[in-house]
Formats: sequence, structure tokens, C-alpha cells
Amino acid sequence: RQQVKIMHVPIDQVTLETAFYAFQRFMDGTSCRMIVTPNTEIVMEAQKDPDLLEIMKEADLVIPDGIGLIYASKIQGTGLRERVTGVDLMYRILEYCHENHKKIYLLGGKPGVAALAGQNIRNKFPHIAVAGTQDGYFQREEEGRIVEEINRSGAEILFVALGAPKQEKWIHRHKTLLQVKVAMGVGGSIDIWAG
Ligand code: UDP
Repeated sequence: RQQVKIMHVPIDQVTLETAFYAFQRFMDGTSCRMIVTPNTEIVMEAQKDPDLLEIMKEADLVIPDGIGLIYASKIQGTGLRERVTGVDLMYRILEYCHENHKKIYLLGGKPGVAALAGQNIRNKFPHIAVAGTQDGYFQREEEGRIVEEINRSGAEILFVALGAPKQEKWIHRHKTLLQVKVAMGVGGSIDIWAG
């Protein structure tokens, strides 16, 4: 694993394809792996949020989802090659889920949005099972129930769209209990899929 540090945040030196290979390796594992997709704003935010910085350091895959990070890397003379967006990696993962008949779970967005996104994903990728959806406006006390529901759904991949850095903190908080193989923070992607 080759990483480049941008303002103390380690970013993986990946292309869309090598990021996808890392994802595939995670699918062969047994514990929950976390994918984060920082842009420049999140790297800046991590400067004043030590918890967020620690979460980024612990993440299993950190893709450079911001052109500013590529420029910063060029100025430093370190080797981030291209921007890899969360939207694109999510799409590649959905293709894989379709080919391999995988179950996914969508968490986040306003009420009804994740369910609509799930329908649109199923229309495009009919072999994907959307095992469950949950909107992103819940109380802290409900989180245990939500984690249980995700586990009971049998989903192997969890997409979390609570906005950054809320989604990264949420995944990190529940990582040890989550039985999915991969949890990925996807920002506004569930909104995009809802159309
Ligand atoms: N969101 C959510 N719960 C929250 C805050 C945000 O589900 O408590 C959702 C919001 O509905 C949207 C997504 O997170 O679908 C991204 O939100 P935002 O645009 O604020 O995040 P950013 O683009 O800054 O990461």
C-alpha cells in the first residue's frame, strides 16, 4: 500500500482500477473495511479535528476525491496520479455487485431518498439485491438498531451518505460491530442515484 501525505492525511496512491482491486481484496476478508473519499475540504477539516484525522489514518482505503489534492501532491513532488471520485468508485463497485449478485445496504439522505436510489440502482443493475435502506435523519439512540438491521439484512457492502465528516465518524464508531465487508462514505451519491 503506497500512500502520500497531504497535510498529515495519508492518501492512497491509486487509480480507479487499483482502488477497485483493493475493494475486491476487502471482499475476500472477514472484518469490516472502511473506504473514505476525501476532498480538499475534508483534508482541511482534519487539521482542526484530531478525531477525523485519526479516522483517516485508520481507514483501509483513502481515495483522492478532489483535484486540489492532486495539485498539492504535484507541488510536493509526491505521486498522486489522478483524481478518483467516490461517485466513480461506487459505480465500479455497483457493477461488481451486479456481476456477483451481491447484497447492498444504503444509509443516508432525506426520508425516501435511499429507497428511491435503491430502486434506480436495481433498474440499472437488476442482479443487485438492495437488502435495506435507511434515511440519514435518526437519533443517536437508534444507531444500535440500525447496525442490527444492516447486519440482519445480510448486506456485504454498506454505502453511507451522511455528509462528511459525519459519515466517516459513523462508520468508524460502528466498524467493529458491522458485519458488512466494506463500508464506504459516499457523500451526495445516494442523492445522485435518487435522480
Ligand atoms: N445527510 C444525512 N443526514 C445528516 C446530514 C446529511 O443523511 O444528518 C445527507 C444529506 O441528505 C445528503 C448527504 O448527506 O444526502 C450529503 O450531505 P451534504 O451535502 O450536507 O454533505 P457534503 O456534500 O458536504 O459531504
